Amino acid sequence: MKRFWEWLYSSKKTVALGALGLGIALLWWALAPEGRSGKGLIAHLLCMVLFAVFYHLVWCSKTGSSRGAESHAIEAKMKELEERAHQLRLSGEASATQAEWFLASVREVDGALENLLKVLQYAVQADSAAVFLVSEDRQSLCWHLGAGNIQQHRREPFSAMEGTLSAVFKKEAPLRLFSQKGLKSLGYGVGGIQALLATVLKSKEGVVSGILLAERAQGVAFKAEDEGQLSMLAQEVQRVIELECMMVNVRRNTLERDRFFRVVNELNRSSSPAQVFSAIIESARHIAPLDFCAITVVDDSEGKRFHKIARVSGGEISMKHRAFEDNVGLVASVVRYGIALPKKETLPSERHVVFSDNILLRGMGSIKVFPLMAGERTLGTLVVGSKKKLALEADELRMLEVVAISAAQAVLRAQLFERMETMATMDGLTGLYNHRTFQVRLDELLSTSKRYGRQCSLILFDVDHFKNVNDTYGHPVGDSVLKKIGKLLRKLARDSDIPTRYGGEEFALIMPETELQGAKVIAERIREAVMDELFQTEQGILRVTVSLGVSTFPACADGKAALIEVADQRLYMAKRKGRNCLVADKMPPPPLLPKTPAERFLAP
Ligand code: GH3
Ligand code: MG
Ligand code: MG
Repeated sequence: MKRFWEWLYSSKKTVALGALGLGIALLWWALAPEGRSGKGLIAHLLCMVLFAVFYHLVWCSKTGSSRGAESHAIEAKMKELEERAHQLRLSGEASATQAEWFLASVREVDGALENLLKVLQYAVQADSAAVFLVSEDRQSLCWHLGAGNIQQHRREPFSAMEGTLSAVFKKEAPLRLFSQKGLKSLGYGVGGIQALLATVLKSKEGVVSGILLAERAQGVAFKAEDEGQLSMLAQEVQRVIELECMMVNVRRNTLERDRFFRVVNELNRSSSPAQVFSAIIESARHIAPLDFCAITVVDDSEGKRFHKIARVSGGEISMKHRAFEDNVGLVASVVRYGIALPKKETLPSERHVVFSDNILLRGMGSIKVFPLMAGERTLGTLVVGSKKKLALEADELRMLEVVAISAAQAVLRAQLFERMETMATMDGLTGLYNHRTFQVRLDELLSTSKRYGRQCSLILFDVDHFKNVNDTYGHPVGDSVLKKIGKLLRKLARDSDIPTRYGGEEFALIMPETELQGAKVIAERIREAVMDELFQTEQGILRVTVSLGVSTFPACADGKAALIEVADQRLYMAKRKGRNCLVADKMPPPPLLPKTPAERFLAP
C-alpha cells in the first residue's frame, strides 16, 4: 500500500490521479446495488475525473508558486551576499570560481563578526551591538551586522557626515553618550536608546573602514572601561575583515599563478616564430586588460640595426611588418639598455615616441615596453598599452615582465628552429631553394598539374666557362658572381615560381601554370639580365653569360625525370650551339664545334 502511494506521488500526477479516480469509480460500481442505471455510473465517473483534474490543477499551481518564491528568495540571498562582499571590499570583478570564494568569505566573516558582536554585547552589558561599514566613496555608512535588539537600526545607507556617528567617523575617536530621555538624532536608528558606545574600525594603515557600537535601551551610561573593551573588540573585528581580505587575495593570486603557468606552458609549446608571436600576444592579454599589444624584433643582419614590428594586436593593422631604424624611441631604447621603459610606471603614449616618428601609437593612457632578453642579447620588445591611465597594476606589470622573459626564450628557440629549417631547404650562398627542395616541390607541382590538367615549365641554366672565372679571378669572385645571379633570378621569378640553385654553377626555375612560350620569354629575360650585369673585380669589370634549356609538362615530358632530362638536354644543346643562348624546342643535334688547336693535337 505504501508503495502504491509513493508511486502515486512520484509518477505523472495526471495519470496517477486519473487512475485513482477510475479505481474509486470501479469500486463504487462493484459495490453498487443491482439495478443502478448506467447513466448514473457515467455521471459519477465524470464527476470523479473532473475532481481529479481540478485537484491536479490546484496542486500544480501551489507547487509552482512555492517554487517561484523559493528561487526568488535564493536569488535575493545571493544578491545580498554579493552586496555584502562588496561592502567588505572582498570582491571586484570576479570570475565564477572567484565569486564562489567571495561568497564563502562573506559567510566566514559574517560568522566571526556575529560571534564578536555577541561577546561585545555580553562584555559591556549592552542590549544591542552592531557594525556599520564605510562606503567606497567614504561618504556614507551602511549597516552590516548586528546582535541583540537590532530592529531599530536603519538598513539603508546614511550620510557619514551627519548625525551622531559622524562625530565618531570624523574624529576617529570613541564616543560615549547617555540621555535619560533617550538619545536623539542618532541618524542610524529610530531611537529608543539611552546609552551609546561607539568607536571606529581602523586598519593598520590608519584607514577607517567602519564603526562598531553598543547600545543600552535603558539603564546606566557606559563607563570608561566599557570603552576599553569596545576598542579591543573593534581591533578584533578589523582583524577578521582584514584576514579575510588577505585570504581572498591569496586565493586570487593562486588563480592568477595557475593562469600564468598555463600561459608560459603555451609559449613553450609554440615552435615557429608566428606561433610564438601569437602565443606572446595571447599571454599578455590574459594577464592584463590591454587595448594594445605588439612585438618588435631586432634585425642586425644588414650591418645596420632595424626594428621590425612582427605582430600587432589592437592597434592599426598597417603597423604590422613595418620596420624602422634605430632611434631614441622607447622600443629602440629598451633594446639598447635591456630594461623595461618607462622606468617607474606606465605613461601616456602621446608623451613618447614608442616606435618611430612615422609609426605613431595614439590614444593610449598607459604604455610599457618590456625587453625580450635571451641571455645578454635583446631580441626585441613586448609593447603593451591600455587606453586608461595607470591601468596596469604592479602585479600585472611584474607578470608581464616574466612573460617577456619566457617569450624571449621562445623567440630564440623559434628563430633557431627557423634557421635550421632554412638551412635544410635553402642554399646558403645564394638564398635560393636547394636541390632537395627543388625535387620535393617539383613532385608536388607535377602531381597537382596532373590532377587539374595544368601545364608547368622548367628552365635549367648553367654559367658559361665558369671554371675560367674561378681560375682568373679567384674563387671568392666566383662566389659573388653566383650570388648575384641568384639575386637576378629571384628578381625575375614570380611569387609562385621556385628559383633554385640546382648545384655548382647550375640554376633552375620551376614555373607553375606556365606553357612553353611563357617560359621561353622568362628564359630570355634571364639570359639578357645575366649578360648585362657587370661584376666589379680587382682585375676590372667581369661579364658572364649563361646557357639555358627549357621544357614543359605535359607537352615535352610526362613526368619529373623526363621534364628534367629534356631541360638538361636542351641546356647541353645551347652549349653546343655556342653558349649564351637558350633552347626550348626539339632540335637536331648541332654540328660539333671546330676543335681547338689542343684538341686537334690530342685527337688520334
Ligand atoms: P661550361 O660553359 O661548359 O659550363 O664550362 P664551365 O667551366 O662552366 O664548366 P665546368 O663544369 O668545367 O666548371 C664548373 C666550375 O664551377 C667548376 C667549379 O669549381 C665551379 N664551381 C662550382 N660550384 C662553385 C661554387 O660554389 N663557387 C665557385 N666559386 N665555383 C664553383
Ligand atoms: Mg656546370
Ligand atoms: Mg658551366
